[in-house]
Amino acid sequence: MQAFRFDNAFVHQLPADAETGPRLRQVHGALYSRIDPTPVAAPRLLAHSREVASLLGLDDAAVSSPEFAQVFAGNALMDGMQPYAANYGGHQFGRWAGQLGDGRAISLGETLNSAGERWELQLKGAGPTPYSRSADGRAVLRSSLREFLCSEAMHHLGVPSTRALCLVATGEDVVRDMFYDGHPKAEPGAIVCRVAPSFIRFGNFELPASRGDVTLLTQLVDFTIRRDFPELASGDGEERRAEWFGQVCERTARMVAHWMRVGFVHGVMNTDNLSILGLTIDYGPYGWVDNFDLAWTPNTTDAAGRRYRFGNQAEVAYWNLTRLAAALAPAFASAEPLHAGLQRYVGAFAAAERSNIAAKLGLAECLDEDLERMAALQALMQETEVDMTLFFRALSDLSDENLDQPALTQLACAFYDEAKQRQAGPAFLAWLSSYAARLRRDGLASAERRTRMHAANPRYVLRNYLAQQAIDRAEQGDVAGIHELLEVLRRPYDDQPGCERFAQRRPDWAKNRAGCSMLSCSS
Ligand code: AMP
Ligand code: MG
Repeated sequence: MQAFRFDNAFVHQLPADAETGPRLRQVHGALYSRIDPTPVAAPRLLAHSREVASLLGLDDAAVSSPEFAQVFAGNALMDGMQPYAANYGGHQFGRWAGQLGDGRAISLGETLNSAGERWELQLKGAGPTPYSRSADGRAVLRSSLREFLCSEAMHHLGVPSTRALCLVATGEDVVRDMFYDGHPKAEPGAIVCRVAPSFIRFGNFELPASRGDVTLLTQLVDFTIRRDFPELASGDGEERRAEWFGQVCERTARMVAHWMRVGFVHGVMNTDNLSILGLTIDYGPYGWVDNFDLAWTPNTTDAAGRRYRFGNQAEVAYWNLTRLAAALAPAFASAEPLHAGLQRYVGAFAAAERSNIAAKLGLAECLDEDLERMAALQALMQETEVDMTLFFRALSDLSDENLDQPALTQLACAFYDEAKQRQAGPAFLAWLSSYAARLRRDGLASAERRTRMHAANPRYVLRNYLAQQAIDRAEQGDVAGIHELLEVLRRPYDDQPGCERFAQRRPDWAKNRAGCSMLSCSS
């Protein structure tokens, strides 16, 4: 396997825990602990992303070499790797949870590729760390497979995300009580290698702030700006920090707006699961909206409060930023730049929402009336149980001259309930007729409208039941389902003949099946 060029800035430039090894402990005055992955019995490569391999300068021979599976299972270290677990805290479900840290993620090092880009390699499920608390540091195949596929699917959808290089089976079982109801079961284990320019989370700043360690906090702030926001390198300290926080707010806004565009529900938007780079991070009990429902959450642990429901994500992201702002306050002379940053979130989200509406409806621009138009459509879709992905794609394919009765036939594929569909027919016709009039005033040519809509309304998303089918097969030893999905999700906006089965309504059997509509944090 080719050698990487490592430049491990995080470990070289930031204070380390004096102790190494996995003894559970509170770690003060340090931003990480050195810890090696724990070797596993029988590493076997199940899948890899060719795009990420190529970003890292790895060719096919490297990926298929036995050394590759050994390294990315945590059984061998390459020259220059300096494994560590990061120390961070977080607000979980609205409450301060104290020190959390990487309990099963272990970063191997920061590589520089031939274009000079920095890509940190991180194993998830690589064994115990000082932050594992009561857990085992491992991950099950079903959750690793979901993280692997979704990271790449999101990237190809144009949604900022951490990436995934590969999925490696460990050859060891992991015991999980999936619904925390006293039924523990042995499941196959697997490790994902995640890849991102930075894995710093809001919670990395919150922990030193919560302990009044302003020196450590400002060290991390200045490091993050220097390493992860190099374009901000000029200007004085306070101004640069203000601009940085504003950019974090804007990136977070744009990320969540993308989630809303494609129907992604993160499921656990705790502050330890929000990336400082505005990347989607920590794929756990996430889900994809089938029938459009702003109240839906895939996370059974969140079923009571529905804090992380689809329609609440923008508000929760804002609340998380207020936690980050509070943590950063000691690094600022006044709170004014932090308030200004939060305002930038509001502005950026509103702007992104407007561009989503224009793109999803195929308009040259989003007027105020279009905000209402979209809200009215969403209300209809919600009441009538309409599949979000199928509906918008079918809407893109309607011809502008044909936005009446025949259009309803073309949209029929998106409805889950025939009675509701019949009943809502007149309301949809009324909406379509107003939309048709709006299109005439907007003046985009038909072909251009369709291209614009196709680029914003994916044909293929990682429907929960599709991931579950790939999991069922993989647990039986058949990994072809992973490769098929990975392949089709590489081009989510293109119609791919022969792949129709990946672009259909959720089947009835999947409506209430574990893994298809209900997921727990147990992973
Ligand atoms: P999350 O599910 O990302 O919100 O995880 C919350 C915290 O629990 C983080 O500190 C994780 O590292 C930790 N954690 C989750 N699962 C495990 C596990 N199997 N072993 C050790 N730590 C874990
Ligand atoms: Mg997490």
